[in-house]
Amino acid sequence: MIDVKGLRTRKGSDDWLELAINSNKDTVDQLKELKPIIKFYYNKYEKLLRNQASEPQTSAVLAHSAILKSYYTSPPKDLGIQIKARRENDELSQCPFCGRPGYPRILDHFLPKNRWPEYSLLKNNLVNQCSACSSKKSESYFCIKNSSPKFIHPIYSSVLSKLELEFSINIPNPLDIKQFEISLEIKIPPHYSVKTQKRVKLHIQSLEIRKYAIEHAERTYLEWIKKSLLRRVDILDMLKNNIILNEKLHNNDWTICLQKAMSQHPILIRHFEQHLP
Ligand SMILES: [Zn+2]
Repeated sequence: MIDVKGLRTRKGSDDWLELAINSNKDTVDQLKELKPIIKFYYNKYEKLLRNQASEPQTSAVLAHSAILKSYYTSPPKDLGIQIKARRENDELSQCPFCGRPGYPRILDHFLPKNRWPEYSLLKNNLVNQCSACSSKKSESYFCIKNSSPKFIHPIYSSVLSKLELEFSINIPNPLDIKQFEISLEIKIPPHYSVKTQKRVKLHIQSLEIRKYAIEHAERTYLEWIKKSLLRRVDILDMLKNNIILNEKLHNNDWTICLQKAMSQHPILIRHFEQHLP
């Protein structure tokens, strides 16, 4: 996963709220009345994230939920442009929550807007996400069993970008490389506290990252095997070049880590050497 802490805006930033208040939407007077309490909540946001032992209290503005959410779901023009730009951030080439390759085109409300509508427009509460993570996370936030939030906030913690992925490929019969099993170890650097390690494990579990990364690896594996059978390019050379070009940037990139495992596997090395152009 990539480090996306750069997406964070300064504490107390409320420029989206200002855009909403300066619009001519029909509920703007009600929003103006709510402004002091929303700003009060904005100032508490980072403290809420730090307090990981209990779920944030029930929102005091739930009665105004429909109005608050409407500025996000059908925003006035200027605000809509900004929300769209954040959603379609082309600099993100993988999901900040799980690392899935591809543009994560969903904006997730880290504190779900249906439960804490005061954060509907807080930029730092909005993080890009892939559709698989979105369906897993949805309205959930806190895990009572573990007394901990289920997810790591990618723009407040860089721990996800420090994980290391190691795929192992088992090919029982060297003559049939299309029969294989892939397993995955996700390593958390040991210097993180026991508490952080637990939180990362819960994040991985809650989003089923292992399952999705293995499914991606299985598809990628078969694509490379298919390519090798065409004998058009030196696959081993291509894999090694991809790794050299990307290793420093993505030591936990799903695709690169799989390519590493493939390029070091004796059975696959032999296969690729036998299928040179
Ligand atoms: Zn994801």
